[in-house]
Amino acid sequence: MNAAVFAVENIPLIKKGDDIARILIQRAQLSEHDIIAISSTVVSKSEGRVISLKNVNPTERAKLIALNNKTEPQFVQAVLDESVEILLESPFLLARMKNGSICVNAGIDHSNVEGSDNILLLPEDPDKSASDLKKSLFNYTGKNISVIITDTNGRAFRIGQTGAAIGCAGIKPTRDWRGTKDLFGRVLEVKNEGIVDEIAGFTNILMGEGNGGLPIVVIRGLDLYSESDGIKELYRPENEDVIRKAILKSRSV
Ligand code: GDP
Ligand code: MN
Ligand code: MN
Repeated sequence: MNAAVFAVENIPLIKKGDDIARILIQRAQLSEHDIIAISSTVVSKSEGRVISLKNVNPTERAKLIALNNKTEPQFVQAVLDESVEILLESPFLLARMKNGSICVNAGIDHSNVEGSDNILLLPEDPDKSASDLKKSLFNYTGKNISVIITDTNGRAFRIGQTGAAIGCAGIKPTRDWRGTKDLFGRVLEVKNEGIVDEIAGFTNILMGEGNGGLPIVVIRGLDLYSESDGIKELYRPENEDVIRKAILKSRSV
């Protein structure tokens, strides 16, 4: 399998209400079954998910956590507001969000956001954002295009952040090898490859983390198009997540 990958040049600073599909098709010629990886930062900006820390009123709990973690109470409160479960309070906040994903600081970002008091929340429903962008691209081009919304995430056990998928449309989050054979005829029993994260990880290399201004990457030739229900199947069900259980258990002793 061969593929071509390129970052789309000359994307402007994104503002609330911007039509990202239109901005994209004006700058790149898309083909049937291309995959678009797009940074959550620009999706959030287009959805107006910027808030000023000045407008956040921290509770006593937020103040306490902030003191422990040497951070701002308003920032902690913003994380708490975006979360449905806090797995770790310290040394950093590890939170489960409404959409089911678990990440540090609920994915709230300071970087690449205008205004020193402003922070950027993740898109409220990244699968919906991906699906809306997919539909919009179809309306403009008549082509079926997969969309993966990415964010840079830290990882358990390993140093070094990588791109991770936080929402998708038009691609199944995993590629299931179970039941197929290896080189020697042994049937694979476990392998279910997390392809949207792999794509997010690679495209993040082209995006970078700084002032490159490259929030959209196009991948051509992978042939992974599929109607799908989004990213949810990637999130382990609570009762099967032994790491989550271990964290909660260690907190209660
Ligand atoms: P995240 O990983 O989704 O949190 O996003 P980053 O802050 O790491 O940014 C990813 C890429 O998008 C970098 O190349 C940034 O320079 C770029 N970027 C962020 N915001 C904008 C924007 O409004 N316009 C453009 N053109 N690029 C942006
Ligand atoms: Mn981010
Ligand atoms: Mn990033």
